[in-house]
Amino acid sequence: MKNTFSLNLFQKCFYYKCIIVICLFLFPSITATQVSAKKSIKVLLISGQNNHDWKRTHPFMKKALDAAKIFETDIVLTTTSEEVKNFSAPFDKYDVVLFDYNTTDNWPKTTQEAFEKYVKKGGGVVIIHASNNSFPQWPAFNEMIGLGGWGDRNEKWGPYAYWENGKLKLDYSPGIGGSHGARCDIKVINRNPQHPIMKGLPQVWLREHDELYDQLRGPAKNMTILGTAYSVNSKREEPVIFTLTYGKGRIFHWVCGHLWEGDNDMRSLESIDFITLLQRGTEWAATGKVKQKVPDNFPTEDKAQYSTTIKIE
Ligand code: ZN
Repeated sequence: MKNTFSLNLFQKCFYYKCIIVICLFLFPSITATQVSAKKSIKVLLISGQNNHDWKRTHPFMKKALDAAKIFETDIVLTTTSEEVKNFSAPFDKYDVVLFDYNTTDNWPKTTQEAFEKYVKKGGGVVIIHASNNSFPQWPAFNEMIGLGGWGDRNEKWGPYAYWENGKLKLDYSPGIGGSHGARCDIKVINRNPQHPIMKGLPQVWLREHDELYDQLRGPAKNMTILGTAYSVNSKREEPVIFTLTYGKGRIFHWVCGHLWEGDNDMRSLESIDFITLLQRGTEWAATGKVKQKVPDNFPTEDKAQYSTTIKIE
């Protein structure tokens, strides 16, 4: 009996030691996996100065990102020239910087350099609509956005870019940078269905009542066209969705999304495609991947669709 008891005790000790050792090795890794799976993408949303209705658009964009449940968004606003001229932000704390911003002033040189360094090292950038009007005199910003408009932009900023014969055409002829016709319905054509942002989106879909920018111009370097729309104003297939790289950084540029102050027609932003592309493009700029599913009610060629929960307030 004694021998049997001793053997059992030894076995028990060995058994418990094994459990402790396994726990020590296993639990830290399980905990780390759980933490990384839950880790949010950190977004810095910059707004404030914009000739569009930034007071309604920036909370709407935050709400759209919140709905995806993978982002954690901080907002920073500059509302005076003085604030822009003295602006700084801890860019390195964020995975991606989202611009809902059309300022006519310039950030201080130190902030410009900090932002350039952040993007070169791999920081993400998202440019929405009139944000591509900002900072015409900042060469690195123009390179990041690829194409911009207004702010006296012309041929010195780079070529026009449009879709012709199945590929991107760069046109160096002189002229203004930035134009648009009246608000209208457009058909967005998916030009890169294998790209993570565009995968699962239809070949063509309808957007109603948007302001379609045309004749944007800029360096257009390291640019991949994802979507175009025909402009009755320029008579060209204008790029409306595209990506760029700047150093190790990824930039997502979504040209649509117009809303003036006092405007009661919110279709341009509340459309499912605007929200979906904002969410997918922001994820891609931050991580290089897109894990979000395309919503079942994404617009089709003949039918636009609108969110019933993510609304402009
Ligand atoms: Zn606009």
